[in-house]
Amino acid sequence: MDFAFVSGNPALDLAGTVLSRRDEPIDVLAAPTDLERWVTACDELPDRVTADVATFESALSLREAIYRLALGRVLDRPFDPSSLEIVNHTAGGPVPTIRLSDAGLRMSGDLRAVLSHIARSGIAVLADPDACLKECGRVGCTRIFLDRSRGARRTWCGMDGCGNRVKAAAYRARRRASATTEDRETARTT
Ligand SMILES: [Zn+2]
Repeated sequence: MDFAFVSGNPALDLAGTVLSRRDEPIDVLAAPTDLERWVTACDELPDRVTADVATFESALSLREAIYRLALGRVLDRPFDPSSLEIVNHTAGGPVPTIRLSDAGLRMSGDLRAVLSHIARSGIAVLADPDACLKECGRVGCTRIFLDRSRGARRTWCGMDGCGNRVKAAAYRARRRASATTEDRETARTT
């Protein structure tokens, strides 16, 4: 399965690796190797890390903590204390090194450092009173994203995954509705 990086922040993207959380949750990080692939696929993180079982478990607990805090922000509720504890503790760990060159920024570090970076990045967005966090508008999609659009008018987590699906469904519904009306018209006039 392809990973989606549409949330505008790596911590929110990590939280988004569980799809449709309220209906039938699908966890796209089923094993440590999935997490390794996810880190490689994320532009903001090192190209390559290895995940042992213990660090993988830490990543999943960080992910769930970030999700609960982000949901708290969306619902305008106080942060869950145990989730704060996890995120704050992870953020206090060693951080990746970054280097600038003509090729841009290059980040390196192990998975622990990556988790620390993700926790810090999550804290920055969760602490920002101007950050507009939203849950995707498609029913069933529980992804939380950072809306940076002008006037904060974004509705979907991503156009490919959700926006187009909703629009296509609405189009089909309209066609069905107009076809039904035509049938009725035909029935009436014949
Ligand atoms: Zn969505």
